[in-house]
Amino acid sequence: MAKSRGPSFILELDLATTAKDDEKLYKRVEQAGRNLYNACLGEALRRLQLRNQSRDFQRIRRLPKGPERTAAFKKLNAKFCFTEYDLHAFAGSIKSSCWIGDHLDINTVQKIATRAYDAVEQLAFGQRGRPRFKRAGEMLSVEGKSNKQGIRYRHGRIEWLGLSIPCRFDPDDPVVAYGLEQRLKFCRVLHRTIRGRRRWYVQLVLEGRPYQKPANAAGKDVVGLDLGPSTIAAVDDSHATLETFCVELKSKQAEIRRIQRAMDRSRRATNPANYKADGTAKKGSRKWIRSRRYARAQARKADLERRAAAHRKSLHGRLANCLIRRGKVLRSEKVPYKAWQKRWGKSIGRRAPSLFVAMLARKAAAVGGRLEDIATRKTRLSQTCICGRIKKKTLGERTHRCECGVEAQRDLMSAYLARHVDHNLLNADQAHDGWSSVESLLRAALSTYQAAKQSTASCSRPSGVGRTGQSGLPAKAERMAVKIGRSTNRKVCKDRDLVAGHCLQGPAGKSDVVAPGPSAGCESPEKAKSFAHADGPTPWWRYVQKVLPFRTPRL
Ligand SMILES: [Zn+2]
Repeated sequence: MAKSRGPSFILELDLATTAKDDEKLYKRVEQAGRNLYNACLGEALRRLQLRNQSRDFQRIRRLPKGPERTAAFKKLNAKFCFTEYDLHAFAGSIKSSCWIGDHLDINTVQKIATRAYDAVEQLAFGQRGRPRFKRAGEMLSVEGKSNKQGIRYRHGRIEWLGLSIPCRFDPDDPVVAYGLEQRLKFCRVLHRTIRGRRRWYVQLVLEGRPYQKPANAAGKDVVGLDLGPSTIAAVDDSHATLETFCVELKSKQAEIRRIQRAMDRSRRATNPANYKADGTAKKGSRKWIRSRRYARAQARKADLERRAAAHRKSLHGRLANCLIRRGKVLRSEKVPYKAWQKRWGKSIGRRAPSLFVAMLARKAAAVGGRLEDIATRKTRLSQTCICGRIKKKTLGERTHRCECGVEAQRDLMSAYLARHVDHNLLNADQAHDGWSSVESLLRAALSTYQAAKQSTASCSRPSGVGRTGQSGLPAKAERMAVKIGRSTNRKVCKDRDLVAGHCLQGPAGKSDVVAPGPSAGCESPEKAKSFAHADGPTPWWRYVQKVLPFRTPRL
């Protein structure tokens, strides 16, 4: 059957599975599907290796690129049975000769073989590394080829080799109603672990474009963008914005980090023999003992990461819709993701700007717009002024200041200039003419950004090390000083004066840290303990021990 090309989109529905359905689906996807995939992958890798060892291969690879070489490779692949259809035949023979055949239909089997073949083909072309075999629990989905055989969707139910599972959805939801009217290409069954429970979904792969909500109708303007590793500036005729990317994910990241630290402590405690005296892990293969508490933490972390990814996707979608409402033609400098990953790996991993740009381009195309890439080297937007002067800036310089008197935040300025770029050429006259109306917008955007940044900074817990508080001591030490002052047993009370004195002798000569007077009173040691626990999982006394010149009691 010919593959149907053209755009497609996905409608995902919940499956209302019983325990028995779950068992059967798991056996099909995770056991039969995974084993078959690994068999196909192994076979494809073997065939590729045989092909690459042959003399013909060595001869053909030296030929000049062109149709002749392509045809020769095609012939060679056929000789070594390294083609998609040969792998289908291999998978079919496995299906008919063992237990896997009892759990999968031929279409699903062939799609799994295609998946393995695609992975190895990319390796053959040098587009990726060696594909890995799937370990237990790593096979998440299987799919069919059409809605006629194998996995089928019929009247609100999924039917597959004797299974008939109802789908859960709201028929009045316009997204669902629209999706169900489109032609169905094929179905995909997948599972996710949510709060420790396995849940099943079906993805209907549909023909056409996804549903467009009336509220997200595309705007007519041209929007200039400037993407940074953590910020995004957008400027059009009547709006200018500068925002931090995915700032809402911060709390989840902090929680993930705490779990990671707990897991590390647990791993070290249960495997002391696997670490050197300096605390680094020994090399080579070792036996690792993982406690039950560790396994629980691992599951909790996996769930948090899943939630963070889902949250990030929704934030990306919201931001993309917001930009497209302003204008469906978007212009942005080409972003060097690889270089960013090397330099700001953690932030990039958390915010996924590349994923956002891909989503933005897809959404813009769906409404008939486009995302235009600007070659950074040709335009050098971050160094250019509307008067045409080009002046290099260091990364630390966040403000654009020019001799002609123009002053603006650097990213907003780049975004403004990006609006006026056509075919990699900056239209400086146009940019110059529009400047007077936009200047105040950029200034307003900057002050909004700074206010937002300040409010998030005051909400989140300040990180102590390296950052100085108002008194000149690290911020955390300042808080500790107040805390110790409040607390109680005799030794600490004595220390309190020490700390307070230290604070008051800060470099500026004065301090906002109020040393609590004797009226604070000495309470019981139990109360002191409760203070320590109220602070949450971070043992504050550890920090105090490092920074302050006395020992606090271990609590
Ligand atoms: Zn200038």
